[in-house]
Amino acid sequence: MPLSPRAQAERRARNKRLEDPVPVKRIRCKNCGKLTEKRKPWAKFCSSSCRHEFARHGSAFGPLKTTLENLVKKWLKDYQERVERLERALVELKESQAFLRTDIQNLKFEGADADRRISDLENK
Ligand SMILES: [Zn+2]
Repeated sequence: MPLSPRAQAERRARNKRLEDPVPVKRIRCKNCGKLTEKRKPWAKFCSSSCRHEFARHGSAFGPLKTTLENLVKKWLKDYQERVERLERALVELKESQAFLRTDIQNLKFEGADADRRISDLENK
């Protein structure tokens, strides 16, 4: 049975209201914590993959993931600093090794020179 013209107009108005763009509002994704555009009035997640993840693992997963990510970043930063310090120490060690080599060569040279002078004196 066809709808009356008035009912049809009401339905069109209702559908149009549903199609109206939702004013841009930002929400924080319940799973990953990213700020995202709220595309639907009921939206809670930034993407369908986040929605599925949240459904699979529950609310604890998102904050835990963020915490873990931050922890891993901090650990990596700490390790990077330690590696940089070790690299600097290694460079300093190599430099002092080179100085020591020069000192040893000088000493050997001086020792040989002294030996030569002693043998010169003995031969006189
Ligand atoms: Zn998300």
